[in-house]
Amino acid sequence: MREKLFIDGKWVSPAKGGTFAVIDPATEEVVHHAPAGTAEDVDAAVQAARWAFDEGPWPKMSGKERAAVLRRISEIILARKHDLARLEVIDNGKPMPEAVWDIEDTAGCFAFYAGLAEELDDNPEETIALTEPRFSSKVVREPIGVAGAIIPWNYPLLMASWKVAPALAAGCTMVLKPSELTPLTALELGAIATEAGLPAGVLNIVTGLGPEAGQPLSEHPGIDKLAFTGSVPTGAKIMAAAARDIKNVSLELGGKSPFVVFADSDIEKAVEWILFGIFWNQGQVCSATSRVLVEESLYPALLERLVAEAAKIRIGNGLDEGTLLGPLVSKGQYDKVLAAIERGKAEGATVAGGGRRPAGLDTGYFLEPTIFTDMAEDSFVWKEEIFGPVVCVKPFNDEADAIRMANDSRFGLAAAVMSKDKARCERVARAFRAGIVWINCSQPTFTEAPWGGYKQSGIGRELGRWGLANYLEVKQITSFNSDEPWGWYIKPA
Ligand code: NAD
Repeated sequence: MREKLFIDGKWVSPAKGGTFAVIDPATEEVVHHAPAGTAEDVDAAVQAARWAFDEGPWPKMSGKERAAVLRRISEIILARKHDLARLEVIDNGKPMPEAVWDIEDTAGCFAFYAGLAEELDDNPEETIALTEPRFSSKVVREPIGVAGAIIPWNYPLLMASWKVAPALAAGCTMVLKPSELTPLTALELGAIATEAGLPAGVLNIVTGLGPEAGQPLSEHPGIDKLAFTGSVPTGAKIMAAAARDIKNVSLELGGKSPFVVFADSDIEKAVEWILFGIFWNQGQVCSATSRVLVEESLYPALLERLVAEAAKIRIGNGLDEGTLLGPLVSKGQYDKVLAAIERGKAEGATVAGGGRRPAGLDTGYFLEPTIFTDMAEDSFVWKEEIFGPVVCVKPFNDEADAIRMANDSRFGLAAAVMSKDKARCERVARAFRAGIVWINCSQPTFTEAPWGGYKQSGIGRELGRWGLANYLEVKQITSFNSDEPWGWYIKPA
């Protein structure tokens, strides 16, 4: 576990010498004191990234040369899969198999963007057809400059890769600010980048608290692009900070995503995907399908099966074999989720399952998988993101009713629909006001496909070629090719 920040290819102590505690959420023990970067460290990191972009080799290298480094990063991550996954479990609490999956996905993300970096060489420019025959025009794409990335704690290394990999592929340099709740694996990325041969200053990693390290990064005039993943309130602050210098900004924010289950669905498959949609990563998933809408005739039977299966989920330390639900990430998050459950009860909703600390787990931020029913459409638990293992289940009458309820949200990140009727699935998928729609499943996420939300769930898309476009400027180069004079001010003799 690293005690220093990664700036300009070197491990350096924070300017003010501060640290913050890293707590294992399964044991509540302090496992490390991570370096607390402040505005001085952010400034040093931005200066290093600025120099690496303006003077260094990285943006000028070919896509193929950058791809070779990205591929090495991917290989090193895979070679270190088990130790990185273990760090992730200690830091975040998630079950080990989920952490291993995350690390494999992280490696896959670097490999994918290596491919896209190579494609930049294959398609260096695009000719634009003009209606004016005396002119020709083409478009070239260039790295946007120095990117600042601020990320959350739910998928610590994976969320870093969604920003670092495309930014590096594009030829940008970067300052990464991981969440103060999960700094461990992001710092390892510094060591991995060095081993892979990434030039100094291209990737800088400053751990620290949001207001002390995140805010100065978002306000720094040396940053050209801000990429943020986190909550809506922080996203609004980032956008306001970006507005001052008109920084390019992309935001991946929260959600309260619906899962519409029609009565013709196979009940076992529906229950499995509902569980996966909300209890994976303890429900701390931006795209979690936390509002389940079930067609009336299926509702009683499905609810009974859901409650029974949720109660069987093995809860424990993520390092223990067989654990399927770990602790929530922190005391703060635990208290927030418990308060939301109390609020749901006070508003008249029924706890159909869970809702308490599991028996026998007296230490750690553990919570039973929780199922609410009978909540009002304007209740807190139905409308607001809880970001924990809490699902609300509600019956609906018909397709129109389901679509209306599904879209009645200020969020629009994801949505899911289940039915044996393919035409209906397609219809409902198109009616959802959300950036990610799953048919007959919930949550599977692919590096190749775009990720992001409608409405207050964010601006822009990550992953796939959309993720690369976040870090590329588009430049048109237009030529006047005629030998004839233009003849506006100076008339031909
Ligand atoms: P958060 O907004 O509290 O923190 C996110 C990051 O912002 C952290 O690194 C934090 O230190 C930093 N930060 C805090 N205050 C800041 C400030 N004033 N200026 C700059 N940076 C600041 O969010 P969180 O609790 O870490 O993550 C949970 C949220 O993230 C949920 O709402 C979830 O839905 C969302 N999320 C979205 C996606 C997505 O892809 N859409 C993915 C994961 C998480």
